Amino acid sequence: MNTQPYIIIILGPQGSGKGTQAEVLAQQFKLRHIDMGALLRAFVTSRHPQAGRVQRIMNEGKGLVPTTLVLEILRRALSKIPASVGILFDGFPRNKVQAAALDRILRRSGRIITHAFYLPISTGTTIKRLARRGRVDDTPAAITKRLATYRKKTKPVIDHYRRRGVLVTVNGEPTIPRVTQTILTHFK
Ligand code: AMP
Repeated sequence: MNTQPYIIIILGPQGSGKGTQAEVLAQQFKLRHIDMGALLRAFVTSRHPQAGRVQRIMNEGKGLVPTTLVLEILRRALSKIPASVGILFDGFPRNKVQAAALDRILRRSGRIITHAFYLPISTGTTIKRLARRGRVDDTPAAITKRLATYRKKTKPVIDHYRRRGVLVTVNGEPTIPRVTQTILTHFK
């Protein structure tokens, strides 16, 4: 019997439904959900000396939080997860350095990425869906900046997983249940 737990990465632009699909999969397969955006929002409310700086980066859509800090938060989250438990990464990795670091960290702990789902949607769909969500960083100016960061920094991560042969592209335009249905066909 194959006992390798699922190690899943969900990638896609803002509004692609990554978070929602991540929650569904985490529940279905009893995975730990590492939501980097949520971990960073929690960090902002902490008393850490860098909390204010991180808050400004996030609220204004000013690109990515420094990778050293993101990796520190990631390592802390991972240290609490037993090797037998599957993991779902959502909002991470966001650039090539993070992707390489994740490969290293997983390899050292004997874990293997089993699926990297990429949920593409159009820019129009991102804008429409984020307007509905209305988070503090969902202003039109911040959305435009985040999309630019996504194209420049996160798109290469998709190629990284495509080359590794673990990338599964699932159109993110249909409704949430339909996208879930398609994703689930990739688990045997
Ligand atoms: P999200 O909730 O995934 O949309 O993330 C919100 C914001 O958190 C982003 O716009 C980034 O500034 C920051 N962020 C989230 N994940 C990462 C990451 N892996 N690396 C750097 N910054 C991140």
